[in-house]
Amino acid sequence: MEHALSAAELLNAWEQARALSPTDGALSLLALAEPEKTREQLAQLSIGRRDAGLLKLRERIFGSRMTARSNCPACGQPMEMSFTVAEVQAAPAPATAEPFTANFGAHEIKFRLPNHSDLAALVPGDDLAVQKRRLIQRCVLDAKRGGHPLAPDELPGELINALSERMSELDPQGDVQLALSCPQCSHRWHAPLDVASYVWSEIETWAVRLLRDVHQLASAYGWREADILAISSWRRQAYLEMIEP
Ligand SMILES: [Zn+2]
Repeated sequence: MEHALSAAELLNAWEQARALSPTDGALSLLALAEPEKTREQLAQLSIGRRDAGLLKLRERIFGSRMTARSNCPACGQPMEMSFTVAEVQAAPAPATAEPFTANFGAHEIKFRLPNHSDLAALVPGDDLAVQKRRLIQRCVLDAKRGGHPLAPDELPGELINALSERMSELDPQGDVQLALSCPQCSHRWHAPLDVASYVWSEIETWAVRLLRDVHQLASAYGWREADILAISSWRRQAYLEMIEP
């Protein structure tokens, strides 16, 4: 049975992961939820498997309601959308084992799914098309055209796109798209949801608020940090409201 994560445990995990990038921070949180796996094993999970674990963890901590902000690309209207964890949970991918083999015209490609380490190896400022090519190249284990071996940097652009689509089909949780429509101008579009960054920024907001609450309660009542963290968040709020302004 999953044990309930305490505020102190989460706060410690957040503190230890603070210096990392948001996605590496999110992996540290996942380690908290899946202690039987090493960090190395977690980094080898496909993006979809990683994000499925993060969504489950997120639901355990904050419940199922999620919100995100975006600006309409057509008219610039800022909007806030609300959805549930279940709405962004993909059906589990078919339980086929890696590596996969696929034929695209004369090409025969053996590949695996992108994982956390692959994403971490990308250069953040690079052009998106360049990043996509690098990511796919890392995941191609063997490529042949008409039976002749092909080096990773010889893969044509259409093949990169076809492989990327095939990977999304095989790992749907790794590519969550929110269907959005603007209340102002009725423009409709899809925006990707980066689950790891989303969960990390939520934990960060929660942790900073919690530290402030601890400070206020400790100042007002003289309680120790450990005792304040040990009471429920509902009781912390109740005591905060009783503090004279
Ligand atoms: Zn609009």
